[in-house]
Amino acid sequence: MDTIIEQIKNAQTIVVKIGTSTLTHDNGSLNLCLIEKLVRVLSDLRNQGKHIILVTSGAIGVGRAKMGLKTRPTSIPQKQALAAIGQVSLMHIYSKLFIEYGQIVSQVLLTKDVIEDEKRRMNSYNTFETLLHYGSIPIVNENDTVATEEIEFGDNDTLSAVVASLVKADLLILLSDIDGLYDKNPKIHADAKLIPVVHEITEEIMAHCEDTNSDVGTGGMKTKISAALICSKHHIPVVITNGADPYNIGKILQGELVGTLFIPR
Ligand code: ADP
Repeated sequence: MDTIIEQIKNAQTIVVKIGTSTLTHDNGSLNLCLIEKLVRVLSDLRNQGKHIILVTSGAIGVGRAKMGLKTRPTSIPQKQALAAIGQVSLMHIYSKLFIEYGQIVSQVLLTKDVIEDEKRRMNSYNTFETLLHYGSIPIVNENDTVATEEIEFGDNDTLSAVVASLVKADLLILLSDIDGLYDKNPKIHADAKLIPVVHEITEEIMAHCEDTNSDVGTGGMKTKISAALICSKHHIPVVITNGADPYNIGKILQGELVGTLFIPR
């Protein structure tokens, strides 16, 4: 346990993923105060010399809010069009705030086929390496506007784990609307207990997930545990923590256990 905490404290390359429910208010508009805090925390880590990659959801949600749509889009062209509209606004806000803190941001939009083909995978790896070498903070999302079922990751928890494995990150932090993994869904059961450390991802751990389809998110706890499983195979620790307080990121990097830590193989 001490070794893993030391590893986290010394983490040089960190992937942080933030979900739509954390990024947006209930009406779908961006939670600017939260994004501002997140950007400040990540900029400060960059100033300490750490390499940061931000995987962000929210494009479709922001597009929907921009267009004033009350209901979630159902058709693929509608979702893809809203993603195209929302991604621009999302990047505009991130880049405005990161630039205020003197950071260089870049946008990387991925689909699964890019990662599965060996040559294109190497190319993506080299691009990430170069961006990090330049000191840029890559902001990553699924390329929702062109992704179809065969080439989509489907959720950004999986995408963030794939990116963490690709760049050989030292840590993946999943910012959620909940404090971590509980023994049952705390939104349904008031007596649910937080699990601070997961040593091995067993069927019992998987059985704790009781995902209900939220109106905005696509993941849930199951995809977060699958992400931890991908990272475990690549020896990357994963922490699920509450994104409502982006300062949790700093606490984790100081060795505090805030949320649920998945110890890799
Ligand atoms: P995000 O948008 O942050 O990725 P999700 O809505 O995808 O968040 O996933 C977090 C949700 O998972 C929680 O709000 C909760 O409703 C649900 N959930 C299901 N089972 C559990 C569990 N065992 N522990 C914690 N959360 C759970």
